[in-house]
Amino acid sequence: MAEEGWILKFYLDEGIVLKGSDFGEGHRLLTIITKELGKIKAVAYGAKKVKSKKRGALLEFSRTNIYLRQSNDYFIVEQAEGREYFPNLYGNKELLDAAGQIAWLTDRFWPLGQLNPKLYNWVLYSLRLLNSGVWPRIVLRNFELKLLAFTGFRPITTHCAVCRKPYRGEVWYFGAGEGGIVCPSCRPEEGIYFEIFPEVVKGMNALLLASPEKLPELLLDERVVDRVRTILEYFLGYQIGEPIRLI
Ligand SMILES: [Zn+2]
Repeated sequence: MAEEGWILKFYLDEGIVLKGSDFGEGHRLLTIITKELGKIKAVAYGAKKVKSKKRGALLEFSRTNIYLRQSNDYFIVEQAEGREYFPNLYGNKELLDAAGQIAWLTDRFWPLGQLNPKLYNWVLYSLRLLNSGVWPRIVLRNFELKLLAFTGFRPITTHCAVCRKPYRGEVWYFGAGEGGIVCPSCRPEEGIYFEIFPEVVKGMNALLLASPEKLPELLLDERVVDRVRTILEYFLGYQIGEPIRLI
């Protein structure tokens, strides 16, 4: 139906719906991360209607093949076919909140229109791990560290972020402005610095490097995971420019 002077572009892409809101008569406005188009906003007309095939396929957090048509500055979902669902997330508040946190952080750190296949894959791995019953807090901490790494904010954890002195297992500090751990001589007197103990640095490195296959086997003390959460809460909030709360 292309008229002269118009170029209608169609795409088939794989995507995960991060969030959606209703508008008009049964339509949905969606934020979707995709493999080949990056993060996009798309309109799914009639997606709320009971008979719509798009309805189930465009459920939040599901992995879907999406047929898109490009309009001026947004996309229109022509068709959607679900590829992978994570049913356990929807019946469990803790898991749903964890998936929601992953989606929220991804949305905040991933600019519209940008490609980030590594982050796309890690969102998918993390949803899979949550759905399969891996301890949510370990999935979240691993995800947050990977998110930082894949968006250019990987925390420095092997040497002092200021003088580059190698870390050898002492009690140091974590500085958000410095982007990682700082040795006692480099720690300024002013500002917020978290004391960081060897087991926490070790835990952070293990979480940062863990593959999705190895993550379920990672044995970490609950207090270490909790300390990593406090540090990441501050560090992620610092990057966003507002305080945040992590599960
Ligand atoms: Zn130093």
